[in-house]
Amino acid sequence: ITPRDPPKIQRLEESVVNRIAAGEVIQRPVSAVKELVENSLDADSTSINVTVKDGGLKLIQVSDDGHGIRREDLPILCERHTTSKLSKYEDLFSLSSMGFRGEALASMTYVAHVTVTTITKGQIHGHRVSYRDGVMEHEPKACAAVKGTQIMVENLFYNMIARRKTLQNSADDYGKIVDLLSRMAIHHNNVSFSCRKHGAVKADVHSVVSSSRLDSIRSVYGVSVAKNLIKVEVSSGESSGCAFDMEGFVSNSNYVAKKTILVLFINDRLVECSALKRAIEIVYAATLPKASKPFVYMSINLPREHVDINIHPTKKEVSLLNQEIMIEMIQSEVELKLRNTNDTRTFQEQK
Ligand code: ADP
Ligand code: MG
Repeated sequence: ITPRDPPKIQRLEESVVNRIAAGEVIQRPVSAVKELVENSLDADSTSINVTVKDGGLKLIQVSDDGHGIRREDLPILCERHTTSKLSKYEDLFSLSSMGFRGEALASMTYVAHVTVTTITKGQIHGHRVSYRDGVMEHEPKACAAVKGTQIMVENLFYNMIARRKTLQNSADDYGKIVDLLSRMAIHHNNVSFSCRKHGAVKADVHSVVSSSRLDSIRSVYGVSVAKNLIKVEVSSGESSGCAFDMEGFVSNSNYVAKKTILVLFINDRLVECSALKRAIEIVYAATLPKASKPFVYMSINLPREHVDINIHPTKKEVSLLNQEIMIEMIQSEVELKLRNTNDTRTFQEQK
């Protein structure tokens, strides 16, 4: 090895820094959809419609009927760290919105072409404007609009050749997008969701507003899932040292599937928790004779200060205080309910 002079350290151009950061927030088409849909939920929408072309690489369009965006906010809408949801660090712990980083839209403009059409209450017309690299490409144009906001993300990763290639070579994200919206739809049953391929008449997810969770599970996952569910509930009380409430549905012994579906919301955030998933799978393997994997929907609510939502830019993983105790309590509730229905069934069959 020939000794060499230390290489010179230089400051990266801002556009390079932004593109690198953006690629982390928006990892693939489904991450863009998640951010857009969460923005629509944060805007108090009651109807959210998603259209996707070419697995999201060509086009992702999310339309909502939410409160819209003010005309005067459009110039900074897609700058990094601009948000209407947070103003000081402490707000993080009392936040009820999905978003707070003010990073999602900005990130999309660094790796795609973004066009926003929006109208606020009382306006007679809407505004449309396109963005690139965080800034408006032109002044907002007046346009016809109904209610709410429509965001179009075109040619995702047009400037990240390697990412685009990898995505093009694998199965496209459409399945993941349908899966995401199905999960969102059963939790947010006060909002109607749809998801379709561009140009398709039939929607692949189509939920209607319903007051019953079971009805929304039926409309999204089908009768075969909904008819085989048992209600589960845990209310920990204060004594256990970890206050939390869990409410959900788990599949019974008639349900057959090769893969576990765990739809988990913690404080209304769709998250993943492999420890909980494993814990539930263990109960099923031990309780049911058939080697079927469960369907599980769970909504857990715990004091906001017990969840750190800020550990990951995509907010997909959350860390919980007292996770072990919580999982144990949930595990025994699932086991109890599963055994009960299983016993009743065997009993009925014997008669
Ligand atoms: P964050 O959600 O973290 O605030 P985003 O980059 O996702 O950051 O969005 C920036 C801001 O744009 C939001 O704070 C919100 O005020 C506004 N916004 C984005 N999408 C919508 C929408 N669909 N309806 C209304 N306002 C929106
Ligand atoms: Mg957001």
